[in-house]
Amino acid sequence: MTIELDEIKKREKGLKIINEKIKNEGIDSLIDLTGLAGGFDVTPKDISLLETYAGPAVFDEKIQKVGIEHLGGEKVLPLNRTTSGIAAMIMTYVKEGDEIAHYLPEEPGHPSIARTAKLVGADYVEYTDINDFKINDNTSLVVITGTTMDHEVISENDFKYVINKAKEQDILVFVDDASGARLRRAVYNQPTAIDLGADLSVTSTDKLMEGPRGGLMAGSEKLIDEIKLTVNQYGFEAQAPLVVGMIKALEKYSPERIKEAYVEKDELYQKLIDKGLNPLTTPTGFMFKEDEIKNVVVDKIGEMDTPSDIIATVYSMLLLENYNIVTIPAVGMPGASKTIRIDWSAKDSDKITMDEMVCAIVDTFNKTAEVCKNNKVEQVLYE
Ligand SMILES: *Cc1c(COP(=O)(O)O)cnc(C)c1O
Repeated sequence: MTIELDEIKKREKGLKIINEKIKNEGIDSLIDLTGLAGGFDVTPKDISLLETYAGPAVFDEKIQKVGIEHLGGEKVLPLNRTTSGIAAMIMTYVKEGDEIAHYLPEEPGHPSIARTAKLVGADYVEYTDINDFKINDNTSLVVITGTTMDHEVISENDFKYVINKAKEQDILVFVDDASGARLRRAVYNQPTAIDLGADLSVTSTDKLMEGPRGGLMAGSEKLIDEIKLTVNQYGFEAQAPLVVGMIKALEKYSPERIKEAYVEKDELYQKLIDKGLNPLTTPTGFMFKEDEIKNVVVDKIGEMDTPSDIIATVYSMLLLENYNIVTIPAVGMPGASKTIRIDWSAKDSDKITMDEMVCAIVDTFNKTAEVCKNNKVEQVLYE
């Protein structure tokens, strides 16, 4: 019998480990290498302005300035999450029977796009081969993912090609630039999505920048106002406390750390290869996909029924428990990727040397194999 991953219980366990570590060793003992900072660098003065109308009055002006500098466009719209921005945009522009055509450099696309397409009764097609990309008679929206959840970056040529195709037919182009608004730009010097000709783009304010989890959308004043109406009707907007956190993060954002990690990751990668491992590189670090994690464990203890998502989550839990290193599988929302991804541009990477990092990775493979061999999987994940 194969066991299934209980996503709610594993997340509770992951957060419980974090809470214990904070109580016993302090918040600084944690090494968060997810690349999802969740920073909230506000001052007492900012907090004193957080009243229902004062907050928006003061902070809306500032977010317009720093948001437009970051994303381009005429106007920005701060959102509770990138997901809520995607949902509001589709609800505003896509009708039942329409088609959404999505070009992305690699599967998978963010599930919020497919989910909202289903909600409004639209067809939804994903293309990962640029030669296959096409627009149909009922296509009313083209979506481009600038950088995928696994940090695969679109090429500027493909980006322009899809925009041209859409513009020939006068179709609205929306860019999911959750991490792309920084990765694409810092590493590959690509222009903003808006400067490349997209009508709208959205970014996640906690990804590769030190802001709170939230979304920020940019576009023309007309489009942003239309989406803002939906956003307000359904309660998708960012409240003032979130907006002030975004402003602080955008004010101090600089692409330098990302550029440095882009160079350093090659050395890290080589050190892992030298240990006989088989990681993939990302623009700012490395990753092991769940299948590869299972391969390594199977090499150590032989074939087993345990599915790869469970093994990868065990790995993430052990890395947290033993090395205080936070990766997504142990603590992510249900359905989040089970890839162990290390973002070397995260500011917590200052807390650990490359050799310590490699040691932790190697040892955690051994520990994961032990746990699987001794049937301790459920204990590690849930108890
Ligand atoms: C993270 C991400 C999202 C969603 O961001 P949330 O903050 O979880 O709503 C959407 N698309 C891509 C490509 C992402 O990486």
